[in-house]
Amino acid sequence: MRYYSTRNLNQEGVSAAQAIKQGLCNDGGLFMPETIPSLSLDDITALAGKSYAERAAYILSLFLTDYTYEELLADCSEAYGEARFKGGAAPLATLNDNTSVLELWHGPTSAFKDMALQIMPRLLSRALDKTGEERTAFILVATSGDTGKAALEGYRDVNKVRITVFYPVDGVSRVQKLQMATQEGSNVEVCAVIGNFDDAQNGVKKIFSDKAMAEKLNENGYFLSSANSINWGRLAPQIAYYVSAYCDLVAEGKIKLGDKMNVCVPTGNFGNIFAAYIAKRMGLPVNKFICASNKNSILTDFLNEGTYDRNRDFYTTMSPSMDILISSNLERLLYLVGGSERTARYMKELNEKGVYTVDADIKAALDAEFAGYFADEDECAATIKNTFAEGYLCDTHTAVAITAAKKYQAETGDNTYTVVASTASPYKFAADVYKSIKADADFADDYDALPALNELSGVEIPEGLATLMSKKVRFEKVIESAKMPDEVLSELGIQ
Ligand SMILES: *Cc1c(COP(=O)(O)O)cnc(C)c1O
Repeated sequence: MRYYSTRNLNQEGVSAAQAIKQGLCNDGGLFMPETIPSLSLDDITALAGKSYAERAAYILSLFLTDYTYEELLADCSEAYGEARFKGGAAPLATLNDNTSVLELWHGPTSAFKDMALQIMPRLLSRALDKTGEERTAFILVATSGDTGKAALEGYRDVNKVRITVFYPVDGVSRVQKLQMATQEGSNVEVCAVIGNFDDAQNGVKKIFSDKAMAEKLNENGYFLSSANSINWGRLAPQIAYYVSAYCDLVAEGKIKLGDKMNVCVPTGNFGNIFAAYIAKRMGLPVNKFICASNKNSILTDFLNEGTYDRNRDFYTTMSPSMDILISSNLERLLYLVGGSERTARYMKELNEKGVYTVDADIKAALDAEFAGYFADEDECAATIKNTFAEGYLCDTHTAVAITAAKKYQAETGDNTYTVVASTASPYKFAADVYKSIKADADFADDYDALPALNELSGVEIPEGLATLMSKKVRFEKVIESAKMPDEVLSELGIQ
């Protein structure tokens, strides 16, 4: 299986290992496999009898054909085993008669980024061997919170990889700061940057485009790499849990083999929902994809009108991982539906004018498969409260999706069994979750809300969060963003 750019098909294509090592195509496009492998109902039946690791290894083996099934099974068994995902990697919880919640946050950092970032570093480590790379990959991440911790936890102690995470000193919550500052592992560094997320992000971008820096790193046996969510190595593992959810729904008797399900996903960068779409293209029986957005409803507008327009206000919400105006992975959907030539044109327009409108045939193709709905802050809070009253505690991002699914069902009358992706533990955003249920609550910070939410709900606090206070703080450095290149060099012992 070769991988090609979403913006240009007249090129040679690369292996999966190369695509994972490289991250982004040379022309700025995203890597896509040359074909989408197929999955039959017999395949699904066979997978139904297997563990999550076996299901994931099988799906990955169809895409990463330069990896052996044994390699992938070994990696998936470590990534998704009981040690890292207690009680299973992607369990379903029943919400009501026709809806189940796919809980993707049972990993070490309590957010769904673990589903990709526990496996992707292992795939990268093997990719270095497969491509004859002798240097060590130096992963550089700027984070607004969740991705940094998930990347640290995924890359820690992985062979031939080092990772440094920069976060804005006043831009992350206390829980997030503690999660990163206490990170264990021999190949990790964490450093706070004075300023906001953009300062940290710009600092990282500058390092990536600094030729002298690349040369220095190269001389010392390192090359820069990113853990970005546009990497195919992060996207491919996400396909597996939709197949897995379908297997489990059939096993539970919620649907019959061959029946269609709807899939509703709280969406930011469009990676998670796109993985579900690939599963459908493979053959998984899916009726509609419900794309859920928060007050930053750019995707809802796009799906309704066919125009993607980022020239708009940006809102900070209680579902911060969805506060995004550029959904990078949407490019992959445009490519599959409209081809590389038009995708390249739309991305150019987005880059130059911040807006593009898709052709009528693309709009019609999207209409057939996707519905976009959004939830504002009040609706999100009301859903947390109502869902809790009905017996399920959900986080703020999941609440956006539950709201969207309900709006879709009410508006269309479509009663197809629905799987709602749940992307974070309610404890990851405990203060907002608690305040949504009891409006008069007041907490000094989100860490204080953990025991209160536990008392209110009786739901267990995930171990990684419960033990935060007892962990040793290893990283306390705060620097100016201009000093980020020096920091990188001194960490690596380069003059
Ligand atoms: C990253 C994230 C999302 C958005 O996922 P995308 O793949 O970027 O669409 C939603 N919820 C949570 C909690 C996240 O961390």
